[in-house]
Amino acid sequence: MSQLFVVGTPIGNLQDLSPRAVQTLRTVDFIAAEDTRVTLKLLNHFEIKKPMVSYYEHNLHEKGEYILSRILSGETCAVVSDAGMPCISDPGEDLVRLCAAHGVTVTVVPGPSAAVSALAVSGLVTSRFTFEGFLSTNKASRMEHLSSLENERRTMIFYEAPHKLSATLGDLKSVFGADRPLSVCRELTKIHEEILRTTIGGACEYFEQNTPKGEFVLIVSGQEKQEAAQLPLEEVCQIGRKMILSGMRTTDVAKELAKTYGYKKAELYKSLL
Ligand code: SAM
Repeated sequence: MSQLFVVGTPIGNLQDLSPRAVQTLRTVDFIAAEDTRVTLKLLNHFEIKKPMVSYYEHNLHEKGEYILSRILSGETCAVVSDAGMPCISDPGEDLVRLCAAHGVTVTVVPGPSAAVSALAVSGLVTSRFTFEGFLSTNKASRMEHLSSLENERRTMIFYEAPHKLSATLGDLKSVFGADRPLSVCRELTKIHEEILRTTIGGACEYFEQNTPKGEFVLIVSGQEKQEAAQLPLEEVCQIGRKMILSGMRTTDVAKELAKTYGYKKAELYKSLL
């Protein structure tokens, strides 16, 4: 009673709905769905009959309050989006915040997310990454967004719609250069799943010949260490001083920074002293 479940649903393959998600959708009192028609198909497939409330981008505020009031009166609710994890470039974030602020227990029933699934098969570095979602349709805002990532070292994840893919690849090329490694992950878990492990320039050429169709995640490699070696000596020393303050020996700091930024160890050691 009085609980919100955040339930992940398949991003294409219905077999990816977990047994726990099925059980949760069966047992809650009602479902808050981004598009009730899309969720009805999922429920029908699993022979689940459940009342639904539509909860999407343009009714978040009023429906959020309504859903909360039902939960506070003792009902349980599962929030789902059309595909993947709710709250990730999808409705749910506000509802989680609202429920948590009113002391409602919020529980996750995890499912696939296109972002993490694409990262996993990208072949690029997965240890550190940043999720950037959709770029704005406004040219100035998207260039501002991309410029803020110019020196990003972590792998970057973008969602994109097929009709904007070519323009986005062009923008990525202008900020990160044609040679930057990129994986284009299309239609994951579906019949036409395709993963193109290439460069930004390579992807631009490929999609000049092949019209983009389906759903896409773009995984862009972060800036390589060699590029970061352009960092001025004084800035590298500032990083080094912080490392020394945290308890590292100067000689070890000089050794590590020399490896990362391409300066000579002796030169760094002298500057740090
Ligand atoms: N909440 C979802 C999640 O957790 O992945 C994302 C929803 S967002 C509105 C939809 C975007 O996710 C699509 O435009 C596409 O970029 C990406 N996407 C969703 N399903 C996908 C799939 N099967 N293959 C590739 N990308 C997908």
